[in-house]
Amino acid sequence: SGDPQSYEFQAETRMLLDIVAKSLYSEKEVFIRELISNASDAIEKARYLALQGTQMDSSEADMKIHITTDKYDKTFTIQDSGLGMTKEELIENLGTIARSGSKMFIKELQEAGTTDPQSIIGQFGVGFYSAFMVAEKVEVYSRSRLPNSVGFCWASDGCGKYTIEECEGVEPGTKIVCHLKIADREYADEQTPLWLMDPKEVSPEQHDEFYRFVGSAYDKPRFVLHYRTDAPIDLRCVLYVPEGKPGLFDLNREKDSSVSLYCRRVLIMNKAENVLPKWLRFMKGVVDSEDIPLNLSRELLQDSALIRKLRTVIQNRVIRFLFDKSRKDTENYNKFFTDYGIFIKEGILSAQEQLEKEEMAKLLMYDSSAKPVGEKVTLPEYISRMQDDQKDIYYLATPSRELAESSPYFEALKKKNVEVLFCYEPYDEVVLMQLREFTDRKIISVEKQMRQSKESVDFDTSEGSLRRSEANELMDWLKTVLAGRCWSVKATPSLESHPCVVTVEEMGAARHFVRTQFSQIP
Ligand code: ADP
Ligand code: MG
Repeated sequence: SGDPQSYEFQAETRMLLDIVAKSLYSEKEVFIRELISNASDAIEKARYLALQGTQMDSSEADMKIHITTDKYDKTFTIQDSGLGMTKEELIENLGTIARSGSKMFIKELQEAGTTDPQSIIGQFGVGFYSAFMVAEKVEVYSRSRLPNSVGFCWASDGCGKYTIEECEGVEPGTKIVCHLKIADREYADEQTPLWLMDPKEVSPEQHDEFYRFVGSAYDKPRFVLHYRTDAPIDLRCVLYVPEGKPGLFDLNREKDSSVSLYCRRVLIMNKAENVLPKWLRFMKGVVDSEDIPLNLSRELLQDSALIRKLRTVIQNRVIRFLFDKSRKDTENYNKFFTDYGIFIKEGILSAQEQLEKEEMAKLLMYDSSAKPVGEKVTLPEYISRMQDDQKDIYYLATPSRELAESSPYFEALKKKNVEVLFCYEPYDEVVLMQLREFTDRKIISVEKQMRQSKESVDFDTSEGSLRRSEANELMDWLKTVLAGRCWSVKATPSLESHPCVVTVEEMGAARHFVRTQFSQIP
């Protein structure tokens, strides 16, 4: 304790700071993201140590990040209740660049020659030091959560030196105060967070920028869902569907969530799991709810009635939003469905309740015998066109449109002008079988329909037909040679251009397997 002690930054750090401080890099607000990510890292570390049984100063119950601004002092302050730093850690972590991102930045800079540091600064992100892009002085108040720690204040103007002094009244964790440069004092304004603004007052450009910020993304959102509701739960949301297609990484169910959870602007958790259902993991954004307690623990977030309610409300809203798009912005919705439809199918397969499945099923799109190639239909559309005497919804699982059109299974229904949905992916049929019905209409494969058909053949009378005795003889012969391999052999009036078909009860996609069985027939 006593007077502040003065230290010099390591040479590489000095160089980095010099570039950062003079940076004309236009996307300066990245500093907020960097400081938030450090704060949330520090909270994660504290939580991890607590879980391991390390003795800590105060419990993990009040883990939080708080951002405040002061217009008159021109300060931007971020406080976290994370692990905090000892004096040695302040020297080690903030005085040297151990961080690989910053190291690579310096290396790249040296290799490229220092002509245009702005162009590479954004690619690397310079962590904590990015605060110096906007601040003429940064103070870091920190107290380690490990027992018997004292508080310190680290301070620097980013010009070669920093000081450290012992400090009274520092709360466990870290508080970083950025004294803003005149040119950057806008960061001291109460910038209402975008998601709390009136949706009508947010421009597409603001959404683009915010999307890149919250989603750590480089593309744009293709759909923006910005909404607020007070019942049945208080909710302020901005959720984005990325313009880009999902990567393999997104398909992984273990992928981190890209949604941050806030309570009245206070960040509760980055990458908050469970706030959205798994199948919506491609969405990025922010969920803010006053009903979430600030000290929401990880366990509570895992599985609480509150989080389940939040998830249900959001899921229903997203479904309604997407369904709306399917009707009013069909072209873009079709593209969305091509890129992200697989997530909807996953949602149906993982849903527990029939009602929930049918909600999601509104979003499905299929090729249809009633539409030209390239046009898709939804189940509600299909139903609206059904003939009076049609009870069920028919689909045909087939590898392609050409095969669908020439399929013997489709022939009979085509003749009767009954619409059939064509599905091409093997799992489409699994999804439809899981769904079973939609608004009380059974969903059945055309093969099943053909098996169940009670229509009989007018032997003898129709031209070119076998006589009844000949047909019976043929069926008897087939039954004998196929004994043990087929359930039954029937004559049908449904076929015109095909002599016979093999049908399976369900899972036409399994026909391939059936074909190999039948190839052994003499
Ligand atoms: P990185 O986060 O990639 O390690 P940074 O430059 O952002 O690099 O931060 C440097 C280090 O400073 C961190 O690794 C961490 O040890 C320490 N640090 C920064 N901010 C905090 C904080 N809020 N609480 C505790 N430690 C922090
Ligand atoms: Mg960092």
